[in-house]
Amino acid sequence: MHILDTPIDYLKGVGPARADLLKKELRIFTYADLLHHYPFRYIDKSKFHNIADLNPDMPSVQLKGQLIKFEEKGQKRSKRLIAHFKDETGIIELVWFKGTRWIRSSVKLHTDYIVFGKPSAYQGKFNIVHPELDLQESKQKLSATLQPVYPATEKLNAKGLTSRGIAKLTQALLPLLKNHLEETLSKSLIEKLNLPTREQSFFNVHHPKDAKSLIRAQKRLKFEEFFFLQLHLLKLKLTRNQKFMGYAFENLAEGFNDFYKKHLPFELTGAQKRVLKEIRNDVRNPQQMNRLLQGDVGSGKTLVALLSMLMAVDNNYQACLMAPTEILARQHFQSISTYLKEMNIKVAILTGSSKTKERRVLHEQLVSGEIDLLIGTHALLEDKVQFNNLGLVVIDEQHRFGVAQRAKLWKKNKYPPHILVMTATPIPRTLSMTLYGDLDVSVIDELPPGRKEVKTMWKTDSSRLQIINFIREQIKLGRQIYIVFPLIEESEKLDYKDLMEGYNAIEREFPLPEFQVSVVHGQMKPEDKEYEMKRFVDGVTNIMVATTVIEVGVNVPNASVMIIESAERFGLSQLHQLRGRVGRGAEQSYCILVSGNKVSAEGKTRLQTMVDTNDGFKISEVDLEIRGPGDMMGTKQSGVLDFKIADIIADNKILHFARNEAELLLKEDEELEKAENINIARAYRPYARERMGWSRIS
Ligand code: ADP
Ligand code: MG
Repeated sequence: MHILDTPIDYLKGVGPARADLLKKELRIFTYADLLHHYPFRYIDKSKFHNIADLNPDMPSVQLKGQLIKFEEKGQKRSKRLIAHFKDETGIIELVWFKGTRWIRSSVKLHTDYIVFGKPSAYQGKFNIVHPELDLQESKQKLSATLQPVYPATEKLNAKGLTSRGIAKLTQALLPLLKNHLEETLSKSLIEKLNLPTREQSFFNVHHPKDAKSLIRAQKRLKFEEFFFLQLHLLKLKLTRNQKFMGYAFENLAEGFNDFYKKHLPFELTGAQKRVLKEIRNDVRNPQQMNRLLQGDVGSGKTLVALLSMLMAVDNNYQACLMAPTEILARQHFQSISTYLKEMNIKVAILTGSSKTKERRVLHEQLVSGEIDLLIGTHALLEDKVQFNNLGLVVIDEQHRFGVAQRAKLWKKNKYPPHILVMTATPIPRTLSMTLYGDLDVSVIDELPPGRKEVKTMWKTDSSRLQIINFIREQIKLGRQIYIVFPLIEESEKLDYKDLMEGYNAIEREFPLPEFQVSVVHGQMKPEDKEYEMKRFVDGVTNIMVATTVIEVGVNVPNASVMIIESAERFGLSQLHQLRGRVGRGAEQSYCILVSGNKVSAEGKTRLQTMVDTNDGFKISEVDLEIRGPGDMMGTKQSGVLDFKIADIIADNKILHFARNEAELLLKEDEELEKAENINIARAYRPYARERMGWSRIS
């Protein structure tokens, strides 16, 4: 057994009770776990504050001065010992509720002390409760100026496992590990990046010699953490490409070529062409494609999906396209059917509201191979839905589907079909590198020509009248308007009321027969939703009042105004998605964000970001900063984003470095067989074993 696997119970200073707590509260079972329990910050003990400058918002501070007087106050429970502590700038009270007798007898008045603790306000004055107190002369002997602060919990504190207590444990542990912390990186990497050794790094991260050593230690450990993850993701990608047999779409035939030459209504953008080439290069090989296609709203992903599906059809395979909502599936079905109307390709649709009888026919036609393209919702996942020869699956708005759901599609043929997942929620590169590090990523970073930037304004309720007039003007110009209300599950009833009130108000302002107003929300029957949606798409209604059901994908080029009510309640990516519903035609479009007068600082950042930029990638970077990676992806992805010391956002430079180095390494030594990479190979094996069956692929 490696010494690092020693149960924590064996460490000096850890009795059975503490061992229990360490396991329960911090999931520290072994020496290795303690070693990887990192301080989350450090207190700079070389810095001193003046008493005159203190305020209760400060974290812990360090003061230099003398005790000039003791005083006892209060009765029974509120009985406390107070010491007056003075420096050149003022006096502050130090307060003890416990251990007062010991303090009184051991602490000397009029002697230089260093006091450490958090200032708080009490009855109009500042004090420090239960400060740490050190004699100045003994303090000078301590070389460590950076004191580690470990995450702790109340239960741990009660057993003496405060931050200081844990520091004592790591101090006991580290000497035992001397010469047992094997190097995991190659000599050339260490030299190239000028990293300290692994052993030095662990010592310095727990008990820094000085600020410089600490920074280098952190850099190394962060690099290592990212490096092995990237190595693993890249290896997964390599092995998958080798191991998962897939279907080779060898030829492009009349489907693709005819469509491309005769029926394509416009020239593809450069980005669309590039992405299609990337897809083409994948699917022509007998290995499964797993590609993520990122493209901002309106960048023309549907067409790319269609052309990819034609690649399948040309090779006698079927393809399917799955969308997260009924409305979206229908819209895809309609536009694709229109695109293909002069071609001999059979397209069908399957959603939750397909009738049983229709389904039966459809199931048969799928199995017989009569249907070439199937478009639908989750209904596609049902076991009953079987194909003759499914070769490609396209998933629109992939983040709306769970991993398990997507995995079902893998099983719809003997080998897994090629997978193309599309998302209009741009993911910052840092995040996609990690979350989708084992996928191939294509990006459409160009909008079709002739699009005008949507003009975005942020208004408050007091501008209602102005907004109404603006809507009227736009309707006169023949445009259509969206008005969106938030609908968040917890307050669904309330939101529903808001929506209906808003709808009624709009109907009063824009009465029949001059105006037509539609309403669509989640509580309506699918047919009714469909009907209203269709009236809007066909240009019958001027205004669509809706909840976020219209958020994804819907395409009405004549709609030029998006009004978002209570905009402060929406997340950034949602706002961006909603705004993407307009600006799809040739006309100048507008987005009006309406908020209350009181908006939180974070809400202001969101709204201002929307006003400032139309660039989905920029917006996603801001979103990542505000929300952090776990939240941003909707679900906390299992393990992938759980870093022990590194931080995807703050350390993104190191992440890029690590990705790069991992790529270079695998290019030269894919199997990690070379002698110079033996350290890496040795460390990687158990790392990979722990993460077996770890696949977040579609
Ligand atoms: P998204 O990427 O948001 O799914 P869509 O595929 O719905 O975008 O495309 C948005 C609009 O742009 C559609 O009306 C589509 O017909 C149009 N479009 C797509 N590609 C092009 C192109 N190359 N040139 C002009 N218009 C295009
Ligand atoms: Mg789309």
